[in-house]
Amino acid sequence: MLNPEHANHNAAIADGATWVPLVHARSLPGGMVEPVVYETLKTELIEMIHAQGPFDGFFLDIHGAMTVVGRQDAEADLTRAVRAALDEESAKAGAPRTLISATMDLHGNVSADLVDNCDLITCYRMAPHEDEQETKTRAMANLITRLVEGTGAPAKAFVRIPVLLPGEKTSTRLEPAKGIYEAILPIEASEGIVDASIWVGYAWADEPRCYATVVVTGDDAELASAKATELATSYWDARADFEFVAPAADLGTCLEAALAPDAKRPYVLSDSGDNPTAGGSGDVTWTLTQLITDPRFKEGGPRTVVASVFDKDAVAACFAAGLGAAIEVPAGALVDHVHSGPAMLSGTVLQLTDGDVTSGRVAVVKMGSIEAIITERRKPYHQISDFVAAGLTVTDADIVVVKIGYLEPELFNLAEDWMLMLTPGGVDQDLIRLGHRNIERPMFPFDTDMETPDLTATIFPAIPSGA
Ligand SMILES: [Zn+2]
Repeated sequence: MLNPEHANHNAAIADGATWVPLVHARSLPGGMVEPVVYETLKTELIEMIHAQGPFDGFFLDIHGAMTVVGRQDAEADLTRAVRAALDEESAKAGAPRTLISATMDLHGNVSADLVDNCDLITCYRMAPHEDEQETKTRAMANLITRLVEGTGAPAKAFVRIPVLLPGEKTSTRLEPAKGIYEAILPIEASEGIVDASIWVGYAWADEPRCYATVVVTGDDAELASAKATELATSYWDARADFEFVAPAADLGTCLEAALAPDAKRPYVLSDSGDNPTAGGSGDVTWTLTQLITDPRFKEGGPRTVVASVFDKDAVAACFAAGLGAAIEVPAGALVDHVHSGPAMLSGTVLQLTDGDVTSGRVAVVKMGSIEAIITERRKPYHQISDFVAAGLTVTDADIVVVKIGYLEPELFNLAEDWMLMLTPGGVDQDLIRLGHRNIERPMFPFDTDMETPDLTATIFPAIPSGA
């Protein structure tokens, strides 16, 4: 949500500081990060701080749901290392303590340790994240304001809320999330408050830091604490009211709806258990296997586009066979084969394209009335142009099955009707059946008979400039 208070901050940010870029690393969400990748990036960042420091302020732009193999709370570890390196450089130069301003995705996880090592911390207030740039701007503007005014680090009030919910139930377009997040603005506008933020958290990691969070920062620690508890209480009180953003059901029920004689076209089915932008592997074949063995999708059935599964070898086999050729090749389940082995593609090669930089080459295999997209690499099909790049039109399809959670705007507009399929995979929306082992219990909705938790804020005191 846009705060008019921030309207002039872009100019202040541009003129207010000399920005020194250090490290930028990003990835399509996926599985766990290999320790060597994490350590390499961390080392590079710390070396850059030592090479370029000291700094007055540090802008830390993290998602917050990175899971590193063999490690808990990677973001707190990274932030602690950044803090130590910045302090070392400041001490060497006799310069003031560096302020760290962190910005996150509201689907990131926040531990007390992470909060302790930042001075300012905030996150998106909209899901889908239409306020991504606004949030980063706010984090930068607050950092510069504190530095210019010499007000040091504000107090931070942190509340852990023992609730873990999927993003598909907590879209801020709908109640109760809408109202809960709208309550942030008047709090943020209060005298003595710098920022107020609510994190839904990331439900598909399995760490003690997976839960919802509120952090309120401000120079009035008492007010920050009271407001943090107020926001946390509203989230806790609404815990049972969060519902899926669309009708949600198992695959069988969704197919019944999509195949009904009066079903609207195109009918979009969200294969939500393997959404590549939420962290799914993108090669779960469970849904595709169900469809190609279903006689309702025989030749002459409803034209059904299925996106997608990645398998480099299967794509190569299609290219070798050539356009229009008969093909019989296994595909997928190379990374995630928990629920289903490779799907046997037995049909004809319908399309062969170069795809794009994300997908690599793309083959479409026609099996009965199904057109299955196979890519070389993991690829979300969240825009119409993605399908066009695969050589397919979807506006005239009867059914479009796509690995996504809530529909991003283009697919939402495409769908004359849609359902969220509760399919298995790495980002299964049915959290209970995922079998978390490391989250702290009790936790809603895993433990239904919970007592009201203590939502008193933990206070990290203000640190005056020059301390
Ligand atoms: Zn997110």
